[in-house]
Amino acid sequence: MTEQNPFEMAQKQLDDCAETLHLDPGAHEILRQPMRELHVSIPVRMDDGTTRVFQGFRVQYNDALGPTKGGIRFHPEETIDTVRALAAWMTWKCALLGLPLGGGKGGVICNPKELSDGELERLSRAYIDQIWQFIGPDKDIPAPDVYTTSQVMAWMMDEYSKRVGKNQFGCITGKPICIGGSCGREDATARGGMYTIREAAKALGLDLKNVTVAIQGYGNAGCNAAFLCKELFDAKVVAVSDSKGGVYNKDGLALENVCDYKAKTTSVVNTPDVEQITNEELLELDVDVLIAAALENAITRDNAPNVKAKILAELANGPTTPEADAILYDNGVHVIPDFLCNAGGVTVSYFEMVQNISMYCWSIEEVYERLNTKMTDAYHSVLDASRIYGINMRQAAYVVAVDRVVEAMRLRGWV
Ligand code: GLU
Repeated sequence: MTEQNPFEMAQKQLDDCAETLHLDPGAHEILRQPMRELHVSIPVRMDDGTTRVFQGFRVQYNDALGPTKGGIRFHPEETIDTVRALAAWMTWKCALLGLPLGGGKGGVICNPKELSDGELERLSRAYIDQIWQFIGPDKDIPAPDVYTTSQVMAWMMDEYSKRVGKNQFGCITGKPICIGGSCGREDATARGGMYTIREAAKALGLDLKNVTVAIQGYGNAGCNAAFLCKELFDAKVVAVSDSKGGVYNKDGLALENVCDYKAKTTSVVNTPDVEQITNEELLELDVDVLIAAALENAITRDNAPNVKAKILAELANGPTTPEADAILYDNGVHVIPDFLCNAGGVTVSYFEMVQNISMYCWSIEEVYERLNTKMTDAYHSVLDASRIYGINMRQAAYVVAVDRVVEAMRLRGWV
């Protein structure tokens, strides 16, 4: 499997865009590197009385459009380059959605599956103790990401509030609803992705009712996506997988059974009464829609030639390498690129910030309606750019987003 450094991948995507846009070399140079980054050592008292020191990062990539925004990942294989790439993609994501925000990302090298609740809480608080002066409601606003939950956000918000001596709900998003969270944040990433899939299906003349769907990755985004495919489109989810493997039923999976089984055993693998498949097999299934909802580097030059789906919806960040991108484009696969497809999460996070600032709670209907409008507009701005410039959907998303960030930098006198 050809793995690629995610930050080199992000820089390569930007370089291609710079060429299309004939970008000013100074602006290009600014956008190739993070504006600022913080590396921290995080001491945590473990349950057995020993102290362990975890490594963490917070990267603020670019704040021309507003305070930086982006999630915090707790992952054993976290690297600074992954966080840099994710912070860059947050910059393009916020710009593409027309949010008054820049891009950032955080990460801690740890395996939350091996931590007790107490250890997880102490790690979450200790991370904030190390970075609190670097973040804030009008500076840099973290949120959930891989293996961080609304509970983790609650601890972090509480710790930040204690540090500054007042309640600061707006310092972090993705919080539980009763302490400043927004209705609809929990499944916002998946729901936003569904709105883009709906628009892509219309553009391709595909009838969504009864389309077949395979989903790689069964965390928050993948699992919510499976249920929403059924609820919103009456689509048939034939396969899902997690890091250990996948399950398949050509007539459609009974999603409740798969979920119950995963809740009991931590994996979908060995769910009764379904066929067992590998992750590789899932990616190559003959389905209408393939949803990549796991991690980076899922679709590479090795397996891209075998992708048969008509639409590839990237709910994960960075699942497709640039080499794979070119192959998918040549093979006519309609890719909904990550920072468009998964932008629902940060969009509802932004709604959460607006609600926190105005001390007012929106109804779920209001959140869905505003999310729908934002995602639909963003999808069509990308589709239009891809047609105008004759470029693929990812390149088009870059063109729209980078152009907005560069315009902000120009107006601010940075270039
Ligand atoms: N972690 C999510 C993302 O990658 C959400 C970020 C946020 O809500 O700020 O878009």
